Amino acid sequence: MIDQYELIHAHFPWFFPLFVFILGAIVGSFLNVCIIRIPKEESVVTPPSHCACGKRIAWYDNLPILSWIILRGKARCCGSPFSIRYPIVEALTGALFMFSLLLFPMGKAVAGMIFSSILICASYIDLNEMYLPDRFTIGGFIFGLLLCFALPSLHGFGESVFVLDAMRSLIVGLEGAFVGTALILWIGLIAEAFLRKEAMGFGDVKFMGAIGAFCGWQGAVFAVFGGAVLGTAGVIFFLAYRLVFGKKGDSSTPSESGEEDSQTLMGRQVPFGPMLAAAALLYFFYLHTFVDRYFSNISSLLYR
Ligand SMILES: [Zn+2]
Repeated sequence: MIDQYELIHAHFPWFFPLFVFILGAIVGSFLNVCIIRIPKEESVVTPPSHCACGKRIAWYDNLPILSWIILRGKARCCGSPFSIRYPIVEALTGALFMFSLLLFPMGKAVAGMIFSSILICASYIDLNEMYLPDRFTIGGFIFGLLLCFALPSLHGFGESVFVLDAMRSLIVGLEGAFVGTALILWIGLIAEAFLRKEAMGFGDVKFMGAIGAFCGWQGAVFAVFGGAVLGTAGVIFFLAYRLVFGKKGDSSTPSESGEEDSQTLMGRQVPFGPMLAAAALLYFFYLHTFVDRYFSNISSLLYR
């Protein structure tokens, strides 16, 4: 089995990355279904994909990424537009699956693919519906702990002394979940005391449980503060964009709608889930070595 893998890899180095990208794009296509149907409490299995006009979508018009490009984002049956979200989710899932394979040992790679899928799905539901469903937050936390135990390489442990490594990895996951939920809960409470209004949803707190289980405490701390930085940058960018490009095509009176938007942007109306998820992915795939070294430098300064 290993020999086969090595052999194929030696002759066609692009084969497994491409295969996993396509696999990810197919999973992304399923995530698109989840993003639409889970908030409506519909089954994610039946009925099969259908257009806004009610017609079934044929399999050859339902290929991840490709169909959207070929059809230029319009349904073949009636020409009604399909959101750019579909190919974005598919390409993003495919890319993160491929990075998992290329960057990590096998156990962590599998965990990375599952983690990416949970974060993408939860983030888009939060963007669309302004809430994070429990099955991703609490479910992600429980599933994350199971994966810590089953795949200790998720937290950098070997798999030689299996039960011992599994227990160590589980503890890292529990620490992460505990630190992440506690940190965001306290920041939320302090922000509420200052702003005198609800600053953070409890869904974000539960979501940090899932992120901590996959990322450990360093990743959890990074996700909370990195998410806040990304969120602030996002709000500033959005306000600047509105300021520069104005309110073209806005039928309501400009001053009123502008005021309302900036207020809702500063309050609870900005979904924080996608920011937490983006920072968590940045840590998981790219910055973990750097961030972990930073924290160990700080603690060696403090406890010297
Ligand atoms: Zn149609």
